Amino acid sequence: MIAVIGGGPVGCYSAFKLASAGQKVQVYEEHSSVGKPVQCTGLLTSEIYNILKVDSKCVLNKLTRARLYSPEGKFLELKLGKPNIVVDRELFDKQIASMASSAGVKINLNSKFTGISGLLKKKAVINGKGIDADWIIGADGPMSAVAKAAGLYGSRQIVIGAQARVKMKCDADCFNTYFGHGIFSWLVPESSSVARIGVVDNKNPNALLHKLLSKVAPSGKVLEKQGGLIPIYNPSQKLLKDNVALVGDAATQVKAVSFGGIIPGLLAANALSKGIEKYADNCSSVLKELKLNLLMRVTMDKLSIKDYNDIISIIAEGKAKNVLEEEDRDFPSKFIFKLIKSEPRLWKYGLKVIW
Ligand SMILES: Cc1cc2nc3c(=O)[nH]c(=O)nc-3n(C[C@H](O)[C@H](O)[C@H](O)COP(=O)(O)OP(=O)(O)OC[C@H]3O[C@@H](n4cnc5c(N)ncnc54)[C@H](O)[C@@H]3O)c2cc1C
Repeated sequence: MIAVIGGGPVGCYSAFKLASAGQKVQVYEEHSSVGKPVQCTGLLTSEIYNILKVDSKCVLNKLTRARLYSPEGKFLELKLGKPNIVVDRELFDKQIASMASSAGVKINLNSKFTGISGLLKKKAVINGKGIDADWIIGADGPMSAVAKAAGLYGSRQIVIGAQARVKMKCDADCFNTYFGHGIFSWLVPESSSVARIGVVDNKNPNALLHKLLSKVAPSGKVLEKQGGLIPIYNPSQKLLKDNVALVGDAATQVKAVSFGGIIPGLLAANALSKGIEKYADNCSSVLKELKLNLLMRVTMDKLSIKDYNDIISIIAEGKAKNVLEEEDRDFPSKFIFKLIKSEPRLWKYGLKVIW
């Protein structure tokens, strides 16, 4: 039996894929239901449709435009070659859990993993009782108790995401990102009257969120506040030890540019389901994209406010804009060199990594 710890999207999708490949799988989720609490914006690129068929009832909105705001308030508008979607995370997680159940997976709720027992073949301790499992898959999020118990936690860095759902008038088909405001910040419309506005930062995301709200939604009404932890991808992260494997946020598999973790986590779950022993090798293409994302993040963190203002103006002028519109941001290997080739002035900023 394979014990998957964590009934989030990546845990349930791993369980679905493993069960579909003929394995006996059980999921252990500490909460009393799947999909709650929601701590996510639910923005996904069209790559999601190459992974699974998202039920239309989970899709709240489709976005065809993106605006990148410079710190001085200039913006670059991109027409997205392929629309992005905004999902209802609770329904999305429940859809994947139901796919897993239909494939024969038993989902155990109110089942908290607290440790590992046994010397050679490790048992998962759930609610104080050791469970025999051939494999223990840690899909239990950024602070992964499985990673800690197995000695796989490593030296990961965690940032904080703070988000508000705001009643306001907004462009229903366009999401915004604001450079120079925290590590990353956004406005993603659920509809023309509700937006998800958020900030990722490692110091004080709540104060930054308030500042952003007063700037972009001065007369908006905050309906709800959400928040959560996000791991920064650690290229030294080990994925396997003894009979334990990590996937998703538990393995820091999050894009360091946009802090989206659903698509890389699901792609890693696909790799895992092709053979757990060979998981690290099968996952190499996913990890390559995460490494490039990290390199882009390191570069972005070195840019000054003036650099961001200049880059937005440079991209708005030329061919680089077309590259950003057409290429999928999940796979920087497909666009990063095209982008720099299309606008050689961008080299100067890329080189900041080694300065
Ligand atoms: C504010 C914010 C906005 C975000 N927006 C986006 C976005 O727009 N797009 C995107 O792609 N990503 C986004 N993310 C990141 C995304 O939410 C995560 O990458 C994604 O949820 C990872 O899925 P997962 O299944 O690996 O982990 P999780 O969703 O964290 O699921 C882990 C599960 O494990 C369970 N668990 C934890 N510990 C235990 C235990 N000891 N025993 C049993 N069960 C346990 C938890 O209850 C949970 O159900 C955002 C994150 C934040 C904080």
